[in-house]
Amino acid sequence: MDKKEQFEKYMEGILQWNEKINLTAIKEREEFWVKHIIDSLAITELPEYQEGKTVLDIGTGAGFPGAILAINDPEKKFYLLDALKKRLNVIDTLLLEQDVKNVTTLHGRAEDYARDSKYRESFDIVTSRAVSNLPVLLEYALPYVKVGGYFIAYKATEEEEYSKALKILGGEYVRTESSKMEKYGISHNLMVFRKVKNTPSAYPRKAGTVDKKPLK
Ligand code: SAM
Repeated sequence: MDKKEQFEKYMEGILQWNEKINLTAIKEREEFWVKHIIDSLAITELPEYQEGKTVLDIGTGAGFPGAILAINDPEKKFYLLDALKKRLNVIDTLLLEQDVKNVTTLHGRAEDYARDSKYRESFDIVTSRAVSNLPVLLEYALPYVKVGGYFIAYKATEEEEYSKALKILGGEYVRTESSKMEKYGISHNLMVFRKVKNTPSAYPRKAGTVDKKPLK
């Protein structure tokens, strides 16, 4: 099976499971292909991503972008984290069917795994799509990134004020790459942040506090 066939098989699997479990609002195949698959793959153009060997996707949901990237890049190791176990079970089932072996799913909150020394500051790349606003996302993500690694956020907009969070958490803004697919009516910004200093051990704050009182 080539990669295109693998993506198609994954899409068909998600659409089938979607009849039983809420995974995506997108049910039409062409729209699914563009908004979930092509959009997930946008990050593969970035040199920072290409150099990374370990990738964590926070709030992966039905595996976007994490499962699509894992199919695309078998030489990298992926960790897909989500608070909803049912969604992770679907990912595990679909990837097992395709014999994709470079994925570990992690069930729980981003704030909790970040305290585990096995995961803290241990990833080359952390990514996340459609999970929260930047001050919250930076607090979820930067504790997982190795010093010298990158957090790359898929953002539809970039208006949130995040400079205080970035400074506290040990990150530095690098640049924003726009991936525009006007033909399909989507545009995403990939915001690239480099980890320049260790994150103080007080962060992330406990589950609930991060999104209720964002670092602003
Ligand atoms: N990234 C996927 C996408 O773009 O299609 C899913 C986006 S969905 C809107 C947000 C997902 O993030 C949900 O599956 C939710 O369970 C997960 N999530 C939100 N906050 C989280 C947290 N603090 N820790 C772990 N998962 C979280």
